[in-house]
Order: sequence, then structure tokens, then C-alpha cells
Amino acid sequence: MAGDKLPKRFADSIVRHKAWHAAKAGNNDVSPADPQFSIARPQVACQTDLSTWFLDQQHRKHWPTLSHGLVGTAMREDFIDQYLSEAPPGSRRRPVDAIQTLGWLLLHELTHTVQGGCLKDIPDKQNCYGWTCVTENKLPDNADTIAVIGAALKLWRLGYWVTDDGYINSID
Ligand SMILES: [Zn+2]
Repeated sequence: MAGDKLPKRFADSIVRHKAWHAAKAGNNDVSPADPQFSIARPQVACQTDLSTWFLDQQHRKHWPTLSHGLVGTAMREDFIDQYLSEAPPGSRRRPVDAIQTLGWLLLHELTHTVQGGCLKDIPDKQNCYGWTCVTENKLPDNADTIAVIGAALKLWRLGYWVTDDGYINSID
């Protein structure tokens, strides 16, 4: 059964939610919020915070979406030279990291929620973000792994692929 493979935190929820469905049959007074049918999780996020510096950056760029225009910019040699030269000390940024959009951020943040799978920023805050960290660590429970996969699939759909070292190319 698929339920057997779910993490316990989800399996418990499903069992209790099914019990609520069974209990409410013929009884309209049964509430799904009754503790016997739900699990309080004050330690787990059902909300998310968005980085203000990232929102400010996106605002200054006029809220780009992952489009041919943005990709074309991220493929330009002069852009890449400048983008890499402006990397903060210790940053391992690659050209493909320049295509991060609000959509990338939202996908990342939503994976942290209960509904999105409770993913973490792993292995640690220094090594969880961006192309290099994601492709080196290969951690499916890292939030940015999902954001990178989402971006890579969108790129593929637009007709591009990304080299191991993070350069975008056209699929010819
Ligand atoms: Zn995160």
C-alpha cells in the first residue's frame, strides 16, 4: 500500500482524517478539528516567510519570469562574466543561478510547508542553495533541490539544457 511508504507524520494524518470521514457519516456534529481527528503541529510551518532582499532584487529587475528573454541574458558571455565577478565572497554561483525568479523562491518556500513535504535547507545553510550545492549534494529532501529541478525542467521545456557546471545551452 502507498500509505506504508509515507513518513509517519503524514500516515498519522491520513489515518485520523479517514477516521473523521467515517465518524461524520450520519453525524453532522463531528468536527475535523476535534483532537482525535487531527494532530497539532506547532513546530511545523504552515506559513512561509519570503526573503526581503530577494523580493527587493526581483522588484529592481521588474519581476522577471523564466522566459526566453531571461535565459538569453543568462547565456550572454558579458553577462556571465559580470555576474560571476560580482559573486559574494565564498559564493559558488554559476550562470544558471541568474535565472532565479519569484517562482523559484515560491517553489522553494512551499516545499518547507506541511503540504509541500516539510523539506529542509540541508545539509546546512552554507551548502543548500543554488546549482553547485544542489548538484553536488544530491539531497532530495533539500528545498532548493526541488527549486532547481523545477527550473531545469522549465528550461528543458523552453528548449535549453544546463551543463554540469551550470552553463545554459540551447537544445539543437
Ligand atoms: Zn529554505
